[in-house]
Amino acid sequence: MLTNVIYVAFGLLVLHSIVRHVRRTNRKERAARASAEHGRLHSEGPRAQHPHIDATRCFGCGACVTACPEGDVLAVLAGKAAIVNGHKCIGHGLCAEACPVGAITIVMASPSVSADMPQLTPEHETNIPNLFIVGELGGLALIKNAVNEGRDCVDLISRRVFGIKRGRSVPDVVDVAIVGAGPAGISASLRAIEKKLSYVTLEQDEFGGTVAKYPRQKIVMTSPVEFPLYGKFNKLQISKEEIIKFWQKVHGRAGLKVNTHEKVERITRDAGGIFTIESVKGRYRAWTVILALGRRGTPRKLDIPGEGLSKVMYGLIEAEAYTNAAILVVGGGDSAVEAAMGLAHQKGNRVILSYRKEAFSRIKERNAQKLREYTKGGRLQVIFNSQPVEIREKSVRLDIGGTVKEIPNDYMWVFAGGTPPSDFLKACGVQIGPQDLTPQIRDIQLAG
Ligand SMILES: Cc1cc2nc3c(=O)[nH]c(=O)nc-3n(C[C@H](O)[C@H](O)[C@H](O)COP(=O)(O)OP(=O)(O)OC[C@H]3O[C@@H](n4cnc5c(N)ncnc54)[C@H](O)[C@@H]3O)c2cc1C
Repeated sequence: MLTNVIYVAFGLLVLHSIVRHVRRTNRKERAARASAEHGRLHSEGPRAQHPHIDATRCFGCGACVTACPEGDVLAVLAGKAAIVNGHKCIGHGLCAEACPVGAITIVMASPSVSADMPQLTPEHETNIPNLFIVGELGGLALIKNAVNEGRDCVDLISRRVFGIKRGRSVPDVVDVAIVGAGPAGISASLRAIEKKLSYVTLEQDEFGGTVAKYPRQKIVMTSPVEFPLYGKFNKLQISKEEIIKFWQKVHGRAGLKVNTHEKVERITRDAGGIFTIESVKGRYRAWTVILALGRRGTPRKLDIPGEGLSKVMYGLIEAEAYTNAAILVVGGGDSAVEAAMGLAHQKGNRVILSYRKEAFSRIKERNAQKLREYTKGGRLQVIFNSQPVEIREKSVRLDIGGTVKEIPNDYMWVFAGGTPPSDFLKACGVQIGPQDLTPQIRDIQLAG
């Protein structure tokens, strides 16, 4: 009798544990699916290298989900790991390291992304002799890759430049012109100083590149990297503010000169092999050129007073970083609509989407449908026939059908189109085409 009671109690206990486990798994799956749905608001997918999950080997342990430093990029769905917020993937590869069964490999983004890759030699040289491309524009994301490529490219130039000049000394022609001051351009410029090369560094925006645009206090994951004029930089985790401070320190110590707010518009090479670099402010001549432009492109601006305020942005990196704010999003394409919905999704935000025409005509049906839900629910207000005329510290003056109204504002995003870096490269004569960078990624992973 007692034995029967023990058996029944044990059976009930096992059943209870199974039910709890199933409920917990279902709860996690529901959260992952909700997160995937939220992620679908961003249509870009992974920007560069990202995990490929071999479903036949994955047994759903979730080690990759825990290892990912970017939050909810991965989730376990139906017992298998899956990418649910691809647009947040930076390609650290920590998920691949954490997977106990080797089910994850790091691969390049979708073929459409690799289709507009510049064709490069293993030394990062384009089809135009002595014109190089380094950093994320060459296909590989991550700060450490950008720093390594910028540094190594200048090493190659310093070995070559004597031969390129062939004893010619032409006044006002620098050894190397570096375009872009993100991690790749900074590293290249510092190495140029170290190698005693004459150089000019031109940056359309501010020092720091994409890193300067990360959300406040974002934790940046890095790997040990040899930083020119500093030595081994060993930190693995550092805040965005700290890394920018570190670069500024090295920058000041080295006497690095960066011409900020100077966009390069045209690059040509004459028969004598000298490049002319035309920027919005002037002309430069160089024996070699390094393009370290990243992949964000050049956004079109509104050209109105106050546009230089730091609250005005041209790309949304992390909607979650903005809460309880009065926000204006300007534009009528999918990027504007997706950003507005992503921001309206965050706690306490009051979002206005302003579009200069009387209706949206070129957005995806899925976005149009979702936008209707957002506006009906009062989470987002769309104002057609409107355009900002002036931006102030705490407000924006908006022209609505001829009448100017001042609205409260903490942040503003402008999605007015722009030029992707591939257009700039084509105009420079650089060959663009599909490239499989997977072997390169594998080499980097093996090298540590
Ligand atoms: C949200 C987010 C989080 C990330 N987190 C991490 C992380 O934790 N760890 C990590 O290793 N990586 C991370 N990355 C990736 C990393 O930031 C990039 O791989 C890296 O910044 C690429 O460096 P880059 O120098 O090639 O390009 P960028 O940093 O993009 O710099 C390119 C520069 O070129 C300038 N430029 C472009 N066109 C012109 C022109 N015509 N004239 C003059 N200047 C021009 C741009 O203004 C820009 O300043 C993250 C990326 C994002 C978006």
